Amino acid sequence: MNKPLILVVEDDKSVNHLITTILKTHGYRYLTAMNGATAVLEASSHNPEIVLLDLGLPDTSGVDVIRKIRSWSNMPIIVISARTEDKDKIEALDAGADDYLTKPFSVDELLARLRAITRRLPVLMNQAVGENSSFVNGALRIDYAAGCAYLDGEELHLTPIEYKLLCLLAKNAGRVLTHTFIMQNIWGNSSADDITSLRVFMATLRKKINSFKDSPQYIQTHVGVGYRMVKVE
Ligand code: CA
Repeated sequence: MNKPLILVVEDDKSVNHLITTILKTHGYRYLTAMNGATAVLEASSHNPEIVLLDLGLPDTSGVDVIRKIRSWSNMPIIVISARTEDKDKIEALDAGADDYLTKPFSVDELLARLRAITRRLPVLMNQAVGENSSFVNGALRIDYAAGCAYLDGEELHLTPIEYKLLCLLAKNAGRVLTHTFIMQNIWGNSSADDITSLRVFMATLRKKINSFKDSPQYIQTHVGVGYRMVKVE
């Protein structure tokens, strides 16, 4: 498979240059945009496979760019934010971004995120076709029709909420899901009380998964942001 075409949206010339130099060195094809309007135009006309999007743009907010792209495409979007833009980062994830990088980031970090997203591209393409009846990630398997989850072939005894949480993470495997997104999907609302419940349910779910020996870390915590199910090899 050819290396994916990446749209780099970044108005800071030096950061833009740094990213494109890294991409070029590692054989990625890329396009660049210095503002939101050009980003949306380039995304619609060239259909890149991945978008690297800075959140602080001169004309529109990065979040608006995500909403526009999401109106017609599921192309993976990795947002790049400054440490002071934590709120924007969460808003971006809620608007449909897949992942984020915090400035300053290392070359290795950027390349690792791109590799992770690239591995998921075939899955993302298939998502449009329809829901599969089961989900497999390493030793973890969910049989949606039966409403059961298994690890190494052994059934995980989950409560209904733990099962719903696991399915939500699985259906969005690879994506960072914010607390708000998860709470709205599981409970239909989100308040401070729910975030405490969410932490408790997530802890018990993890404990059940981790009680199996040699179980890899399936669920990643993003402090102050949310959770992600990691695709294990
Ligand atoms: Ca910027």
